[in-house]
Amino acid sequence: MAESNWAQSYRNADFSHSLHGMTVPSQFAKSGSKIYVEGKGTRIKDIDGNEYIDFTSGGLVAMVGYGNQELAEAAKAQISKLHHVPDFSARATLPEIDLATRMSEIAPPGLTRFMFTNSGSDANEAAFKLIRFYWREQGKNKYKILHFDKAYHGATFGAQSASGSCAYTTKAIEPLVPGFIELSSPYCFRCPFKKSYPECNVICADAIEEAIEREGEDTVGALVAEPQLSVGGLIIPVKEYWSKVMNILKKHNVLLHIDEVITGFGRTGSLWGCDHWDIRPDIFIFSKGLASGYMPIAGLGITEEIYKGMTQGDKPFPHGFTYGGHTAACAVALKNLEIIFRDKLVENSANMGEYIRKRMDAMQEQSPYVGEVRGRGLHFIMELVKDRNTKEPLNVAFAIMDRMNQKGLLMGRHVPHGLGIAPPLIITKEELDLALDEFEMELKNIKL
Ligand code: PLP
Repeated sequence: MAESNWAQSYRNADFSHSLHGMTVPSQFAKSGSKIYVEGKGTRIKDIDGNEYIDFTSGGLVAMVGYGNQELAEAAKAQISKLHHVPDFSARATLPEIDLATRMSEIAPPGLTRFMFTNSGSDANEAAFKLIRFYWREQGKNKYKILHFDKAYHGATFGAQSASGSCAYTTKAIEPLVPGFIELSSPYCFRCPFKKSYPECNVICADAIEEAIEREGEDTVGALVAEPQLSVGGLIIPVKEYWSKVMNILKKHNVLLHIDEVITGFGRTGSLWGCDHWDIRPDIFIFSKGLASGYMPIAGLGITEEIYKGMTQGDKPFPHGFTYGGHTAACAVALKNLEIIFRDKLVENSANMGEYIRKRMDAMQEQSPYVGEVRGRGLHFIMELVKDRNTKEPLNVAFAIMDRMNQKGLLMGRHVPHGLGIAPPLIITKEELDLALDEFEMELKNIKL
């Protein structure tokens, strides 16, 4: 079959049989999907032979880039030997044990026990159940979980119930799971409390205490949060925020459930987002960078204190997936971690991040439309405004990103007024310049 007919037949097949999430069904029916066929390094190719540098890391997963043969070999070797044994009912495999040990060595301090799941959503789901289970084992009914209005924690029912009403439309699937309490995000640039930093005394943290007191300390089990909020617009709390929040949680006996699905494994220029504030979670979720997306694997970690609290009674923890602790996925994750450390990808993320910061700060000085530059490591956003005083959003980002995609620079969609960038951790300065030069030119061309 000629190349163009081949491509066309796949497009037709996609139209007739595929169904896509996070997609408007009526739009998909008209336009179909973008089909990708191969990738190497930072580049990915579509079915028509167009090549793109992927500044989205394929949904922020491809930390080591595409087409990594070491990971392909690790998968092949493990699948050839023993592809999978589920981890529930106290079964284990060697890669699962080794990965749990490795995570206990590299995770933020205090986290000692690890479980592996298949996605960030189901890792959060497991954590929500674990929180309720833990508190019930202590004779308490602290079933409520606090979360932020611009957060995204996943697409399963519990995780989406913990996701913010601002970040995702959940009306169409209501009622959501009860027991999730929404709080304002610590969004300094558009402070929900109409204050300015530092005169505000970080009252966004005090709002957490107020919520605990309002709901009743004896009913609130945990706060779920990313160290910095990613999907809702890359919102980075001020430096005092997390120590204040941790003190409040401790005072009221509320656990801290940290979600590092995006921020983990070097994305922010440090191994963990927690490192930037010295956050000490009780429950810790990670995913995307764990196996760079070569296998669907995620996980959760808990402290020894939580583990001991779970082991007092005689009830089983009511949770387990057929593909939990997936053997081949654990083997690939171990190899992926080896590559991240061996090739100093966290360091590259930090260095490239400094470069992005310099260039974006310069763009902010030159363009009246850059309201704020936020980010660190290899995850940045420029929030665009029509006017710096009014901060009225300038919703041109999607159009700019579409134009860049047409030029072979694959850009993601953050918020309509945010130009975002989150490439694989192997990106070079020269490749970054291709995207940053385009940003600069687009900013110069904006006419209101
Ligand atoms: N948590 C955060 C912070 C996320 O950004 C995401 C997805 O982007 C999830 C959880 C859900 O992960 P998954 O899509 O693997 O279920």
